[in-house]
Amino acid sequence: MSQTEYVSPEKCPLCNQANFCGNLSNDDSKPCWCMDDNISFPGELLQLVPSEAQGKACICKACAQKFQQVKAL
Ligand SMILES: [Zn+2]
Repeated sequence: MSQTEYVSPEKCPLCNQANFCGNLSNDDSKPCWCMDDNISFPGELLQLVPSEAQGKACICKACAQKFQQVKAL
């Protein structure tokens, strides 16, 4: 079993924790947290995602915020 061949869409590709992406849930009334105006996904952050996970798994809120804080310092 290779760990790199299967990418779980529910897990953050950066920290491997649940990303809680609202787009995966069946509840259409709740937009994903990633639609929040305070959250952004700059190209630099997206480049940290392994190529096999790009377009498949979402980055989690914690990693997005951590990246923003590092950039803000
Ligand atoms: Zn993460």
